[in-house]
Amino acid sequence: MSDIVDRLAQVQAAIAAAAISAERPAAAVTLVAVSKTFPAEAIEPVLAAGQRVFGENYVQEAKDKWPDLRARYPDAELHMIGPLQSNKARDAVQLFDVIESLDRASLAKELSKEMAKQGRRPQLLIQVNTGAEPQKGGVLPEAVDAFLAECRDVHGLAIAGLMAIPPADEPPAPHFALLTTIARRNGLAVVSMGMSADYPTAIAMGATHVRVGSAIFGAR
Ligand SMILES: *Cc1c(COP(=O)(O)O)cnc(C)c1O
Repeated sequence: MSDIVDRLAQVQAAIAAAAISAERPAAAVTLVAVSKTFPAEAIEPVLAAGQRVFGENYVQEAKDKWPDLRARYPDAELHMIGPLQSNKARDAVQLFDVIESLDRASLAKELSKEMAKQGRRPQLLIQVNTGAEPQKGGVLPEAVDAFLAECRDVHGLAIAGLMAIPPADEPPAPHFALLTTIARRNGLAVVSMGMSADYPTAIAMGATHVRVGSAIFGAR
């Protein structure tokens, strides 16, 4: 477990270094520690070391792991970063502080309904499919502006920012640049991009949140 805490410190240092070289304050970038597939025993030392923001991909897994962890660390912040089925909207609104994978109108409708019902308002990001990959979730880049308007005007949802997962087999920089451009054009503050292999590049290109899993927790 001390390996995990060492790697957390290395990632935090690399984030700070990337921010400084991009002439941005280190505090402008939030580390989302992606703990999917790792058990609570692996997450606990990371919480004990002071990390508070975590990402999970599966509603059921988060439901199994996080209520106990949150009881001990009430200021933990949990992000949903995986594909979200509409029938899981209720659990997602209950469990997560940020939902990064809003990518279609039917989900916007369900989230809006659940947020009204539960009186909870998780922050919402729209996932953008910057590489137009058919197997991947996300709104196509050219459809983001209209989807933002639909979220706001039809579903009454405030959108805080954008998230993307660039294609695995392409250089990520053009995808990061595109996401930042769409966010700025729409006045959105949050830009979630960059994973273990490429988070320094994402920070150079304007990421406010990087989602780092294996570089902290090890191979899945
Ligand atoms: C798993 C995952 C990550 C973390 O990936 P690593 O390569 O392990 O850092 C980030 N974002 C999303 C959406 C993921 O599914």
